[in-house]
Amino acid sequence: MTALPLVFDAPRRGMPPRHLADLTREEARAAVTELGHPPFRADQLARHYYRGVTDPADMTDVPAAARGTLAEALLPGLLTVVRHQTADNGRTRKTLWRLHDGALVESVLMRYPDRATVCISSQAGCGMACPFCATGQAGLTRNLSAAEIIGQAVAAAAAMANGELDGGPGRLSNVVFMGMGEPLANYARVRKTLDALLTPAPHGLGLSQRSVTVSTVGLVPAIRRLTEEGRNVTLAVSLHAPDDELRDTLVPINTRWKVGEVVDAADAYAKKTGRRYSVEYALIRDINDQPFRADLLGKLLAGKLAHVNLIPLNPTPGSIWDASPLPAQREFVARLRAAGVATTVRDTRGQDIDGACGQLAASEDVGVPTVALPTPQLEPTVPLGAEADE
Ligand code: SAH
Repeated sequence: MTALPLVFDAPRRGMPPRHLADLTREEARAAVTELGHPPFRADQLARHYYRGVTDPADMTDVPAAARGTLAEALLPGLLTVVRHQTADNGRTRKTLWRLHDGALVESVLMRYPDRATVCISSQAGCGMACPFCATGQAGLTRNLSAAEIIGQAVAAAAAMANGELDGGPGRLSNVVFMGMGEPLANYARVRKTLDALLTPAPHGLGLSQRSVTVSTVGLVPAIRRLTEEGRNVTLAVSLHAPDDELRDTLVPINTRWKVGEVVDAADAYAKKTGRRYSVEYALIRDINDQPFRADLLGKLLAGKLAHVNLIPLNPTPGSIWDASPLPAQREFVARLRAAGVATTVRDTRGQDIDGACGQLAASEDVGVPTVALPTPQLEPTVPLGAEADE
């Protein structure tokens, strides 16, 4: 496994044109006014955008003569479908998106009996260099704009509403920032995205705070900042080791902020929001799955407002590591529970389409059993997926 450098500052090139979703309501109204139209047109455009309407011709409450200019100025197409792959009997769908500069990102929509969750990307690539993660191994291309992040959730909401996933029309209920990238390394844009997800129509998707999860490797100052924002979304911390010695190698950011500091910051978040945080822990055979590490983790988290989500390692190209065998998983769970720590093992969706945790690499190369789609439009084809929350 090659050690990659940590990269915090994304290259500045390649940011997309301005989009309505990058703007506050006031900014959007000002932009519309500048174009010579009454400010309420901004609300009309927003309503269409968040409902997934992309063709100006369908915006019939806007005068036909104004639609073209307004859409061109404020609703540039930022995300183009390269292909969809489906898995899990059509209930998981991974989408590969091309951005305006050719950068590629992925999102994964997963339908469950009681909810639908989309896993979105916040960066093209990732600078955090975790050696077991396909995205981390590819390095950071650039930050996504707010509109590029929001657009993934809007597309998922529209896909659910239109019944594009097996099971008929439904509603997008959950968003997890567990796709490509480190959301807290692209803080300002992720913060804007949270606003768009939580704001009711017409200027947002109107999701509830607890159904939105921000997952981080543990950028402590950013966790503290998020704590002050008052957006009480669910926090997930990718811990993967209870001890600094091992975590320094599995999650290189640990060389900057240690296990104890990350857990302290998450505790402060839980205290402020009253919301339990998740501790993500990929179980890697003979690396971090030993009984003594389960005990250490149990001791670390006992009595805290935390919940452990164990993820049997998903395979990534070139990795020498694999998932812990079942008996080791069971032992790990049993020891955590004995320590009084709420623990679940994540049901991993869509491994066969490289859509599970840590497998998003956004390559146009199509792996073995995958079908490439022309370009636009939806069309389930092959399988995929991963899951997040509890
Ligand atoms: N950078 C953020 C967001 C990505 S979330 C973070 O790390 O939290 C992706 C989740 O999948 C993280 O918990 C990550 O640690 C985990 N993961 C990465 N590679 C994995 C793999 N190969 N198998 C299982 N989980 C993995």
